[in-house]
Amino acid sequence: MKPENGYISLIINTRAGANCNKLTAKKFIEYLQQKNFKTKIDHTESLIHARELAADAAVKYDCSMVVVAGGDGTIREVVHGLEGSDKPLMILPCGTENLLANELGCETSFKNIINVFESGIVRPLDLCKANDRFFTSVGGIGFDGEVVRLVDAQRQGNITHLHYFWPIWHTFWGYDFPKVSVEVEDKLIFSDRGIVIFGNISRYALGLPILQSANFGDGLLDVCIYKCSGKFSLLYHSFMTTLKSHRRSKNVIYKQCKKIKIYSESPMSTELDGDPGPQLPLEVTIIPQAVKILVPSQAKPVGMRRRIFRIFE
Ligand SMILES: [Mg+2]
Repeated sequence: MKPENGYISLIINTRAGANCNKLTAKKFIEYLQQKNFKTKIDHTESLIHARELAADAAVKYDCSMVVVAGGDGTIREVVHGLEGSDKPLMILPCGTENLLANELGCETSFKNIINVFESGIVRPLDLCKANDRFFTSVGGIGFDGEVVRLVDAQRQGNITHLHYFWPIWHTFWGYDFPKVSVEVEDKLIFSDRGIVIFGNISRYALGLPILQSANFGDGLLDVCIYKCSGKFSLLYHSFMTTLKSHRRSKNVIYKQCKKIKIYSESPMSTELDGDPGPQLPLEVTIIPQAVKILVPSQAKPVGMRRRIFRIFE
């Protein structure tokens, strides 16, 4: 990236999660200005505003790239706004979980951010859609949908990992695992009690490798279905997933596809990128290579140990 290519649009959510490294964003802007890059800095007022700012940057001929500083929600809206544009997107991770940034291997230190910017390595990123809602990373039906619903119901401002403790505890003891049906490419592959996780990144919250084979730019959705009717099977699946051995179980179905339909006769909560999702039935599709995204050299997802350690940093 060179200053003569055009200005850099910075879309910043100053209210992003508790780990928001505002100082890093500020230092990065100073760095750009010292290097004679022209910048346009916008602070988001809402998620829709973040999308509008990105859509605006996408059509500006003198804008060379977009930088987003925020959590998964802000990043999702910016990706949506930039869809189909050839302007590269760079992420400054500022959220609680930073699902997408962690998948790309983006670290939050200033040194790593400069490394991503200067190396200029760009990869395609797909965008996922569930009914009329877009998401970049991962969605779930059942247990985790219920946890997200409870976290959201008690949410007041920023959330930390601690805000998930009671919702997980409550859901663990109270959840009754309703029957859910899943169609992949219009073929019924599952109809039983269970948990369905789908998306485009290999690592779930805390780095759990649920969608182990997922690639964010391959034009395919990954889906993992855990047949699960109670606490013990949930604990077993969780344990096997931490060992990356969950797919060996006869009670786990794993597929890669372009279309998933999910429905149930019981009301079930859904989540998309850690926010409450639409009601069932759900039709999930993928928009291949929706945007170009800057990644670190030798990028690989941040692992579980590192992510758990970070919570206590
Ligand atoms: Mg994929």
